[in-house]
Amino acid sequence: MLHSLFKRAYIGLGSNLSDPGAQILKACDELGNLPQTRLLSCSSLYRSEPVGYADQPDFINAVAEIETGLAPHALLEALLDMEHRHGRVREFRNAPRILDLDILLYDDLSCHEHGLTLPHPRMHERAFVLQPLHEIAPSRIIGGYGSVGECLEKCAGQRVERMEE
Ligand code: ADP
Ligand code: MG
Repeated sequence: MLHSLFKRAYIGLGSNLSDPGAQILKACDELGNLPQTRLLSCSSLYRSEPVGYADQPDFINAVAEIETGLAPHALLEALLDMEHRHGRVREFRNAPRILDLDILLYDDLSCHEHGLTLPHPRMHERAFVLQPLHEIAPSRIIGGYGSVGECLEKCAGQRVERMEE
């Protein structure tokens, strides 16, 4: 049997400027319109407190599951391009942003090269990533850290609220 050229990937979405909820929903739709890519599912929206730099609005977060024929770096490039089209301006680390798109997991790939680290290096310790990911893939393994559920249990102090539909 041929191996599928399509890989399953999880994308973390975040926004805290310019109508964050709408930014996230639109970006989710756009993920499904990338070349060779299908949107399989998208979590609910979650509200979280900013990390690292507190004097800014709360974030809205979600995680999308896609199937893609794009190679990891091509996918990253497509995501950075999408951030740019949403009007993201890069200021300083942990600054407020219109749209942040991170590749959390790409198949079972482990990678540290050319501006791409997989699995995403901070996902296992961030409830705002783990909570929405848990909704759509609770037992998915994060290479080297155990399941999404196990990682989430270790983030008990972080406040993340699921938003009403
Ligand atoms: P953060 O998401 O950590 O707040 P940025 O969105 O500003 O930071 O990302 C900075 C850079 O992180 C990107 O230009 C990209 O090259 C790099 N990067 C490394 N690994 C990943 C990944 N798994 N997903 C997205 N970006 C990544
Ligand atoms: Mg990012």
